[in-house]
Amino acid sequence: MLAGSTKRSPRAVRRLLLAPLCLAGALAWAQTTTAPAPSRLDSRLDSRLEHLREVGRFAPAKALPELRELEAQARAAGLRTKTDFLFQFGLAKLSIGLKQEAYALGEELYAYGRAQKDNRAMAKGLLAKSYSTYDLNRLADSHRYAWEAERLADLSTDVPLQVTSAIASAQSHGEEGNFPPALAKMQEAVAIARRHNDPVTLVIALDSLANLYSQMKEYDRGFEALDEAFKLAEKSASPGRQATLKSTEFILASSTNQPQRGLRALLAALALQRQIDADSDIVYSLVNLSDSYLKEHNYSRTIDYGNQAIEAARRINDESSVATARINIGQAYMGMGRLAEGKRNFEAGLKHYEESENKPELQGVLIEYGAVLERAGDLQGAVKAYHRERALSNELFEKQRQKAIWELQEKYETDKKQRQIELLSRENLVKSTEIDNRRLQQRVWWLLALVFALSSIVVTLLYRKVRQANAQLEVKNLELKQQSSRDPLTALYNRRHFQEFMRTHMQVEKRGSGTSGEEIVGALFLLDIDHFKKVNDTYGHAAGDLVLKMIAENLREILRETDMIVRWGGEEFLAFLPAIPRSGVEEIARRLLVGITAQTIHYQGHAITVNVSIGFAPFPLSPGEHPLPWERAVNLVDMALYLAKAHGRNRAYGVRGFANFAQTSMEDIEQDLERAWRSGFVDLSIVLGSNHEAGAEAAH
Ligand code: GH3
Ligand code: MG
Ligand code: MG
Repeated sequence: MLAGSTKRSPRAVRRLLLAPLCLAGALAWAQTTTAPAPSRLDSRLDSRLEHLREVGRFAPAKALPELRELEAQARAAGLRTKTDFLFQFGLAKLSIGLKQEAYALGEELYAYGRAQKDNRAMAKGLLAKSYSTYDLNRLADSHRYAWEAERLADLSTDVPLQVTSAIASAQSHGEEGNFPPALAKMQEAVAIARRHNDPVTLVIALDSLANLYSQMKEYDRGFEALDEAFKLAEKSASPGRQATLKSTEFILASSTNQPQRGLRALLAALALQRQIDADSDIVYSLVNLSDSYLKEHNYSRTIDYGNQAIEAARRINDESSVATARINIGQAYMGMGRLAEGKRNFEAGLKHYEESENKPELQGVLIEYGAVLERAGDLQGAVKAYHRERALSNELFEKQRQKAIWELQEKYETDKKQRQIELLSRENLVKSTEIDNRRLQQRVWWLLALVFALSSIVVTLLYRKVRQANAQLEVKNLELKQQSSRDPLTALYNRRHFQEFMRTHMQVEKRGSGTSGEEIVGALFLLDIDHFKKVNDTYGHAAGDLVLKMIAENLREILRETDMIVRWGGEEFLAFLPAIPRSGVEEIARRLLVGITAQTIHYQGHAITVNVSIGFAPFPLSPGEHPLPWERAVNLVDMALYLAKAHGRNRAYGVRGFANFAQTSMEDIEQDLERAWRSGFVDLSIVLGSNHEAGAEAAH
């Protein structure tokens, strides 16, 4: 088994980076010292540190006590010196397995850099943290620190630091299997080193590039980069650097099926490392040598180098390398047929892997163990190893599955919650919209109800008003009609109404006969108060008015409701009786005369009585072929009234009929009724008032 599987090889490269060669360090130092010249004290300290950097790189166990001695002095020094000390101190500790202490120093340096607002110190602190978290198997943190270190290093003027950070950043991408950015970063590191004509950092960058190509299985390009690095390193004559390049050559050679070249490179590396007491690198080389010989089935050499490796690894507390060497030794014994010894050694190595957290690595070891046992004929043991491997595999698978399930569940829960929240908020939205709508609806209903109530009130009010107005109008109309058709003093019909009535209704009609067989006729009576002027003159106009009202009242009493009573003039009244027996006409005239005379008006202590004169006639009247129009009939009645006046008043003269009409004319009769009467053309009936002898008097 190799010292550090492929997974470990980047770390080997990192170790290479931690401390440049002495000469290179001086070069880098000269290039990057742009800050104010360090104090004399710091200068002395710096050169000590520079020396220890080289020692620490290859022999950390030796460098560490010296660094401890310098600690108090270095911590009190200036920014640059203190920074370099803390960085170097941390890396030295990391090199001998003091991972936590190394990490703590990285943190201290980063905090110090922040307090000093110094990008270089911060970048170095982060780099130290990146290296130590890598060894602590916290890869994600390691990568994060490397990338942040690169960002800060680019803000500084320290070129070697920039290159180193770019390499760490590239390695971090590579460890994530993300080769395109890894290669780009690594080429950038090479480019920076080339640009600044910095051979030491260029060697480091090219070596890292070769390792990256090896990881990417682009071995030709890997060898190409390595060749350039070798040529540059020859000039520097640094055994440490050359040893590192030889180690890289070993990796490339092993990968390209050149075991002999690999062995040669390893042996060369070991020789160089021994020159400078590079303890940890010696351990790696020894372990890898034992592995290489194992592959060659050279078991004695495998065991020899394995034991050397264990011894060297114990010195620097590298338990992992001890375990790897034990496994190699175990396999060698089994190859030699010494099964029990082999198993004991193998199991001892296996124990370390079982205790480590690197389960996939343990799985690889178990597979290797099973295969070896099988080859050695220990089928039972092989099956046991196989079962352990399966159990571990299941455990790993289960863990991964659980993790995946948890992740899925978590995602699902998150999604579910998110959906629930969305659903809830949508529901809420819907609900609040519904509530809003309902509220709005209610409001609309209330408004409608209000509008309806108000409008019905308004309508009712308006309706009432209209009805009232209509009623008032009706009253007014009635009043108007009355006013237009009635006489205000007596409330009898006026002359205009009578004319209207006669024109529309009373076109000359033929009357039928009564039940007795007697002819039913209409009749016109025209009344005029006798000496009415005297009443006015004696008692005053008001008394006259009272008399007029009294007569109107009398007429209403004497006549029927169906009869039309009209105030014809100042103190003249006309009565039209539409239907009475012919024989009853004189009787009506007599009742009118008597009825009016019988009434006494009491006015201011005076008793007033009046008489009337009346002219009358049946209506229609037909002197010849045709009945007379109503106007002429009224005119004829007026003639008769005039005769009544002329013949003594308080009497009624009625036209009863005509005789020998062919010998006269209506005009003649109207001009002089009395002559027509005496000539026998007209038949008059005379009714006398109560002061006269009662009864009608037919005269000639
Ligand atoms: P005769 O018997 O010839 O009819 O005499 P007479 O006084 O009644 O007749 P005349 O035509 O000379 O007088 C009518 C009078 O009636 C004149 C007028 O003052 C009066 N008269 C007319 N209308 C009214 C009225 O409405 N009220 C009152 N008080 N008097 C009226
Ligand atoms: Mg008159
Ligand atoms: Mg009169």
